[in-house]
Amino acid sequence: MTDVFADLVGQDEAVVTLRRAAASAAALLRAAAPAVSRTGAPAAGGADPDGGHDLDALAEQVDGPGAADDRPGADPGAGMTHAWIFTGPPGSGRSVAARAFAAALQCVHGTGCGHCPGCHTTLAGTHADVRLVVPEGLSIGVNEMRALVLRAASTPSGGRWQIVIIEDADRLTEAAGNALLKAIEEPPPRTVFLLCAPSTHPDDISVTIRSRCRIVPLRQPSAGAVAEMLVRRDGIAPDVAEWAAAAAQGHVGRARRLARDPEARQRRDAVLAVPRRLTGVGAAFDAASALIEAAEAEAAASVAEVDEAERAALQTALGAGGTGRGAAGAMRGAAGQLKDLEKRQKSRATRAQRDALDRALVDLAGFYRDALTMALRAPVAPVHTDTAALAGAGAQKWDADGALRRLEAVLECRAAIEANVKPRIAVEAMMLALWKG
Ligand SMILES: [Zn+2]
Repeated sequence: MTDVFADLVGQDEAVVTLRRAAASAAALLRAAAPAVSRTGAPAAGGADPDGGHDLDALAEQVDGPGAADDRPGADPGAGMTHAWIFTGPPGSGRSVAARAFAAALQCVHGTGCGHCPGCHTTLAGTHADVRLVVPEGLSIGVNEMRALVLRAASTPSGGRWQIVIIEDADRLTEAAGNALLKAIEEPPPRTVFLLCAPSTHPDDISVTIRSRCRIVPLRQPSAGAVAEMLVRRDGIAPDVAEWAAAAAQGHVGRARRLARDPEARQRRDAVLAVPRRLTGVGAAFDAASALIEAAEAEAAASVAEVDEAERAALQTALGAGGTGRGAAGAMRGAAGQLKDLEKRQKSRATRAQRDALDRALVDLAGFYRDALTMALRAPVAPVHTDTAALAGAGAQKWDADGALRRLEAVLECRAAIEANVKPRIAVEAMMLALWKG
């Protein structure tokens, strides 16, 4: 059995940092524990058992001021702190790292053994003191954040830490960010915030939040490391694992889907057929429509089940009011609740569409990157081994300049959609640029 960090692929440095912090956090809990030590007596010079300590002050008692690592020249501040930001490109494992660290903090043995109840329930998403915020729409709102901050301030029921994991913290609204900032500025003693974001650029995380957090940068894992994990963890055949890891361009979740899901492979094949299909203006518009519609279909399939379950659950809850005194009031609120749910579901569908479209654009960018590296005779392995011949033909036809212009057209399309240009308009412009060169 492996420990909680086993799935964090190719992130050795981050794992060392997090392990050290977990050990330090466990030491804090021991220091803060009242006279329940095995000898039955309070440790001499031990921390005040009344609780309510400031975590940083405790960290200094345990670790020494400003340094938890006793090796000279080592990274100072390796101890525990209240707020962390995990950064890295999509698929590098930001949320995997945050969950693993949460498990390590809740580990009964202190460092993330992987099989105690603390580790187990955290990784399974059922630990009472670990809250996970996964934004479903395009942003995390202020009400959601306020409720979360409030609950996070309560005493951990398991006696260890209250942990809040915020995936995609770059999708916080400004107001939600301010609510979070207040909590991070004056954190309850046992509360830990783990934020995940693409980077610490001010567009992603406000400067003030960032200044209160410790940063754990994750790298894009190598294709070799990803392939190794697919073989070890998921039992995928080595040749399939290697192909999927390369095609996913360092995105671990995407590599796993490509290796295991035939539909994901078909969608990718359709995207990679685009360069061949661009034979004229009409074909370019057709290709744009096909790409958009495929993203919509993929998104619709991914949210349909959850949408239906939510609607059924809400209707049951509303219908269960019966004839009691509160029933009339409940019915008055019902229309509003249904409307709220529809709004949330629409927002989630939009997000799913954008994510699906972005994956397609990343695949397409990989193809033109292959053409470019071939035109330059650069000694790098192709992203898409199965379309390498086609990319080679493109390289001959377009030369390096033409391949670069096409790669840029794809990247500009991604940037435009990110900047809220209507996807169809951005994709049509891209297809025309890919056809004309
Ligand atoms: Zn454990």
